Amino acid sequence: MSKLAIHDTDILSEKLIDVVIRVAVGFKVRNFKLKATSSSFEEAVSKAIEYSSKHIVRVINKQFYCNLCGKGPYTRKGMYLHLLRMHKYEIKNMVREELKEIESTINSN
Ligand SMILES: [Zn+2]
Repeated sequence: MSKLAIHDTDILSEKLIDVVIRVAVGFKVRNFKLKATSSSFEEAVSKAIEYSSKHIVRVINKQFYCNLCGKGPYTRKGMYLHLLRMHKYEIKNMVREELKEIESTINSN
């Protein structure tokens, strides 16, 4: 079974920041390949990405608003850059918390 150590979770969440932001604004995710040791873990990471990406952006009339600080409207590109510049660590923490929750779920199975 895949047992994640805390530092692994930290590394993984760091790598997932850009992926989450891209998914949030609807950009294509390139070159993202998860070296998962199990399909249940892979699925769980996908869920963490999905959950986090839905919580950082609001789209109203095709314009993007930041859910973390309320700023906007932004274009797709502007939203991407705002999140990357202003909220990198908040997003990382959000993903890390999600992963920790997943980790405990997996390990208790
Ligand atoms: Zn913001």
